[in-house]
Amino acid sequence: MARTTRSNDWGFPRWRSYGTAREAAQVRLCDRHGCDQPGDRPAPKSPNSRERWHFCEAHAAEYNRNWNYFEGLSAEEAAAREADERRSASGFAEASHYGWGGSGDGSRSRDEMRALDVLGLETDADFDAIKTAWRRLAKANHPDVKPNDAEAAVRFQAIQAAFEVLRRAEERRAAA
Ligand SMILES: [Zn+2]
Repeated sequence: MARTTRSNDWGFPRWRSYGTAREAAQVRLCDRHGCDQPGDRPAPKSPNSRERWHFCEAHAAEYNRNWNYFEGLSAEEAAAREADERRSASGFAEASHYGWGGSGDGSRSRDEMRALDVLGLETDADFDAIKTAWRRLAKANHPDVKPNDAEAAVRFQAIQAAFEVLRRAEERRAAA
């Protein structure tokens, strides 16, 4: 079996020729960083989004388990985990390879991407757009506005956690 070169691992989506030269069909690889399995399980990047991750079966299952990523996390917990992920540089590290969107510096972490999803924003949203979306959603789901609404309370907490992640990321970028 022909060895593929390392350079095949760069660029998005990830592709690699499969098997011998005679059957050199290109297969899309799982989007999970470092995974060499075929990525034949599309998963939406956010609810109602046409953008898709393509995972292998195992990583599709992992992704689905983590779907409600910020639900039940306090802002402090979400920010702490975001910092951990950034340090360990593991998992979904492709986000740092491909320069998501136009306005950022191409280093959005997995948690930042999820936080943008929570706020219903595209990956290239700038911080003004983040603040605007956060104020609108926080107001709409605030416990003072929706007393006795448990689902709104969970949304409110997720919105706060998502904003905290993005605010801290913005501070890091400003300080860099
Ligand atoms: Zn995989």
